Amino acid sequence: MPPKGHAILSASSADRWLHCPPSARLCESYADKGSDYAAEGTDAHALCEYKLRRALGLPAEDPTDNLTWYNEEMNDCAAGYAAYVLEQAEAAKQICADPVVLIEQRVDFSRWVEGGFGTADCIIIADGTLRVIDYKHGLGVLVSAEENPQMQCYALGALELFDGIYDIETVGMTIYQPRRDNVSTWEISKDALYRWADEVLKPTAELAFAGDGNYLCGEWCGFCKAKANCRARAEANLALAQYEFKLPPLLTDEDIEDILSKADELVSWASDIREYALRQAVSGRKWAGWKLVEGRSNRRYINDAVVADVVERAGFDPYERRVLGVTAMQKLLGKSRFGELLSPYIEKPQGKPTLVPESDKRPAMSTAEADFNENEGGQSYV
Ligand code: SF4
Repeated sequence: MPPKGHAILSASSADRWLHCPPSARLCESYADKGSDYAAEGTDAHALCEYKLRRALGLPAEDPTDNLTWYNEEMNDCAAGYAAYVLEQAEAAKQICADPVVLIEQRVDFSRWVEGGFGTADCIIIADGTLRVIDYKHGLGVLVSAEENPQMQCYALGALELFDGIYDIETVGMTIYQPRRDNVSTWEISKDALYRWADEVLKPTAELAFAGDGNYLCGEWCGFCKAKANCRARAEANLALAQYEFKLPPLLTDEDIEDILSKADELVSWASDIREYALRQAVSGRKWAGWKLVEGRSNRRYINDAVVADVVERAGFDPYERRVLGVTAMQKLLGKSRFGELLSPYIEKPQGKPTLVPESDKRPAMSTAEADFNENEGGQSYV
């Protein structure tokens, strides 16, 4: 979960500062604005903690009335998380008589990272294995546990507490991300984790804390407060814009493959700049050659009830009756009741073709043209 309190080198931003050490100090000069997504995540974590405590028979106060973002979906997700942790705790009991389950445990990994601390959602310790479980409520990015530095930092913090008391050989890390149907688990030996901590984490954290090291632009920039006006990111993206188009006049397949691999970052950088410039303009900043105007807007009723009344009195039916959409229906019924009643009537049509890197986990789709070409011995007819 996000750290409570401020850390320059937080576990949740470790992926960024491990790749781009000077970003840690650069981000310090930006205010911590928070966001609706972060507030929703905090509510979801509070509910998860409550459900898990109840599931384990521990005293807990129901936070629901104080949750701004509470809804049925959040309730289902938190219940699923509690059930998952309970399952893991039961599995631990099979190999160890007295496993320990810790909830919302503060962990300190400052032996490797100056001021490094965080809060692990759940830690299960049994002889042989220490497991860290992190709940992610976000939908935007599919989070993998594999070599995830945030999880590795939490695991190191957990080892600081329990290595020596328990005989731990393996460290397991799980990301539980229910809104993406994602439960990602990765295991590493304790010795390999300590090696990473000594050889990679510690020296890079020292560079980052000192504000040294090299700027490096990549997908982690999307989580950087400096993403809109960072010079290193701008230079890296402008280098792409100056792509050296050599003869012959048409791009080769290799040129296109090269550009494709950089296009996502270029688009995301351009939209960060646009968003930043707009925010500044709304706060009064003038950009030479640009002005603020009103965007397009659609007509709307001032008062729905009055409109319905007027239309009814004129002898018409102002309402339309439609079956709720899938998301709204699931919200109405709850996830399990929705599945129980409606699963035979739900289909998932084929998605629109999307070009993604080879590393993407989805299987490659076959297109009619590719099938045709295969059947015709790979010949193509233009
Ligand atoms: S935007 Fe990217 S390159 Fe620039 S400081 Fe942040 S992480 Fe580093």
